[in-house]
Amino acid sequence: MKLLTFTNILFFLMIISNAKAQNTANIQFQISFTEPQAHYVNVQMTIQNIKAKVTTIKMPVWAPGSYLVREFSKNVEALKINDANGKAVSYLKSTKNSWKINTANSSKLVINYRVYAFEVSVRTSFVDADQAFLSSPDIFMYVDGQLAQPVTVTIIPLAGWKKISTALEAIPDKGNIFYASNFDQLYDSPIEVGNQAVFYFEAAGVTHEVAMVKGGNYNTERLKKDMAKIVETATAVFGENPNKRYVFIIHNYASGGGGLEHKNSTVLGAMRLGYTDESTYKDFLSLVAHEYFHLWNVKRLRPIALGPFDYDKENYTTNLWIAEGFTAYYENLISYRAGFTSQPEYITELEKDINAIANQPGNKVQSLSEASFNAWIKYYRPNENSANSSISYYNKGALIATVLDLTIIHNSQGKYSLDDAMRYAYKLYHKKLNRGYTDAEFRAVLEKFAGKPLSFIYDNYINGTADIDFSTYLGFAGYAINDKNIGNQAPYLGANTTTLGDKLMVKNIARNSAAYIAGLNVNDNIVSVDGLSTNNLTTLLTDKRVGDVLRFLVDRDGIEKTIEVTLKANPNKKWVINKIDSANDAQIKVLEKWLKTQP
Ligand SMILES: [Zn+2]
Repeated sequence: MKLLTFTNILFFLMIISNAKAQNTANIQFQISFTEPQAHYVNVQMTIQNIKAKVTTIKMPVWAPGSYLVREFSKNVEALKINDANGKAVSYLKSTKNSWKINTANSSKLVINYRVYAFEVSVRTSFVDADQAFLSSPDIFMYVDGQLAQPVTVTIIPLAGWKKISTALEAIPDKGNIFYASNFDQLYDSPIEVGNQAVFYFEAAGVTHEVAMVKGGNYNTERLKKDMAKIVETATAVFGENPNKRYVFIIHNYASGGGGLEHKNSTVLGAMRLGYTDESTYKDFLSLVAHEYFHLWNVKRLRPIALGPFDYDKENYTTNLWIAEGFTAYYENLISYRAGFTSQPEYITELEKDINAIANQPGNKVQSLSEASFNAWIKYYRPNENSANSSISYYNKGALIATVLDLTIIHNSQGKYSLDDAMRYAYKLYHKKLNRGYTDAEFRAVLEKFAGKPLSFIYDNYINGTADIDFSTYLGFAGYAINDKNIGNQAPYLGANTTTLGDKLMVKNIARNSAAYIAGLNVNDNIVSVDGLSTNNLTTLLTDKRVGDVLRFLVDRDGIEKTIEVTLKANPNKKWVINKIDSANDAQIKVLEKWLKTQP
């Protein structure tokens, strides 16, 4: 027998008040599927107790976590608005994503519309004859000014579809009716309907539900064990896991990946037959670690601009290097701490990231804070020149996290690490103040644990575009880093190509390279070089030297053009990290704190 403790009574009272709210929600949705084979979702939205003379309904333009205006209203069709008696109500489409409804004579509206859902990704809805993935912001409309309203969602699955996986709370004994206490929660809760395989595991005191969509060669017992390790390791960073229940919706594709974070769930893309390949499997576990870490970093501990959200337009922040970059840093650390990667493998990954950033010309053009602010128009709208003009706040943000972690550990003589700063910020801004942090506030937390101002790092590496001095920071932990390309006189063209049928086409040109200066263009079809036809520029360069002139004959949109290119030396770095033999006690202490394994 179990005693009804005070906490249990509170919980019981909460259930009663929730049930009350559930029955009286003024906004209710019903989802059904009459033409799933044609990728349509039928949505019925009922609004009750309307007092205003005009009610405006809106479709979000973006999905939080994916910083691009996606214009979800483009997929809305056949909007019909009726009153309680089934009589048509007049309305006006007032902007690209809003409808103004005349509610002077009706206190209840029944709104029907269809959504075309055929974009395969973790952040967009996709429906076919076998299943429905509903990414809530592109399915559910909201009433302007009423995002705080509770809402219920009734799902009517297609005959034969037996499972619904979502972090939304199901109303007890009500069939497939789900409840959200407000629209932020609804928009943060994707829904999978179909015949997905579902398994469960417990970790960190949380019940985890894993919905495997469209098969895969995974080993359920191994996944349970490895995912539980990730959960425990990530929870150890923050000292607590705020959820009671968490849902993984995993979409298995022929190829592909990606993930989107939510407070109580995540949607992951995985390779259906990749689970038995060790390297692909490790990448999958890294993705799990990344999205799981987000349940704290960005979903709760967050930049002030990222919640409550404005679903109507871009939500700007200069801090995605913390939200995404730090998460990318911890994704590797968690994989290492959980024992999926060795210390040398961890360092090799770091080396790869350092080289990738060092050799991207955009690293000299765009700062991390700019990359974050402009995510909406740059990172999410890449073009052929992106590598020349921008930098990833994921990869470079992870490198800055490395720099900050090493700085904190070094300055505190091994007392603190970035973990302490993250835990402190989570407790202060999420738990105590229940709001996001500003630039200055997060910086102050980092400085508190570093024990000194971080102006140099902020001015040069976060708000500036200076090369990061890794030999100093890695030196704190007893590592040396050297450029093996110094003095390399191999000639370098700076043009990436691709083949289109039997044509050799220019795909990218690196800033300041020989090809860039001479004027080879993206989309040029290279007909011949020095009079010889070629389909491989790499072999062409093997017997050439710096200073040699190559005569390119190109077909540019039907017009032939000759371009002389003078080869330059390869400017790219090849950084190699090695442990130094004579590390002192202080360096050993920093390394032990930095790359500690899970106890
Ligand atoms: Zn992320």
